[in-house]
Amino acid sequence: MYRKQSAKMVNHLRKRGITDEQVLTAMESTPRHKFVAAGMEFQAYEEKALPIGFGQTISHPYTVALMSQVLQVQKGQRIMEIGTGSGYQAAVLCRMGAQVFTIEKNTSLSRLAEKRLKSMNCHFVIRTGDGSLGWQSYAPFDAIIVTAGAPVVPRNLLQQVKEGGRLLIPVGTAASQELTLFVKDEQSSFRKIIIENLNFVPLKGVDGWSEEV
Ligand code: SAM
Repeated sequence: MYRKQSAKMVNHLRKRGITDEQVLTAMESTPRHKFVAAGMEFQAYEEKALPIGFGQTISHPYTVALMSQVLQVQKGQRIMEIGTGSGYQAAVLCRMGAQVFTIEKNTSLSRLAEKRLKSMNCHFVIRTGDGSLGWQSYAPFDAIIVTAGAPVVPRNLLQQVKEGGRLLIPVGTAASQELTLFVKDEQSSFRKIIIENLNFVPLKGVDGWSEEV
């Protein structure tokens, strides 16, 4: 079921420039239709962000693929995700062999995502809370991925990346952000690379936007 749609999605990702076979294989084998709201399964493999309730969305397949590719995930690496949402991005990273530590602010979404991820049989830890502060007890991480748009780069996230590690975060206004990669060197300095402009829902919290945005 959905095998044809999933293969078509991966072909589309190749055409859009995704070349990392590990990402493409993980996305082809992750059942995206199980991460969308009931009744939306038939749209799950289309190049769309879909509502998942509570005003939130599951990101476009291209966004998930691009972010997974830019992270350069190696098997066994510890990756923290801020903004679990549906759990799909976390599931893809798990399928790529990462140990995933994921934080979601919304309790209902967090519970639903936990259930889905458990059924994927992968290595993950999930917490409900404000991910703009990171997760000090599990730091440092090989990579951190933020799947919501931030007004500034949260200081705690920069600190919680390993030397040689990567922080991938959309930064900008509430309406539009630059997906930005920070690579930490051995002297704890960062090289900043702008990947492209994308639109994410806002990162709320102490080091994010206020609840009113
Ligand atoms: N990665 C998700 C997926 O695969 O479905 C999509 C993420 S959705 C675009 C952004 C998510 O970030 C929302 O679920 C939202 O509740 C969450 N969020 C916003 N601010 C947050 C914060 N400070 N800490 C944790 N999660 C946050």
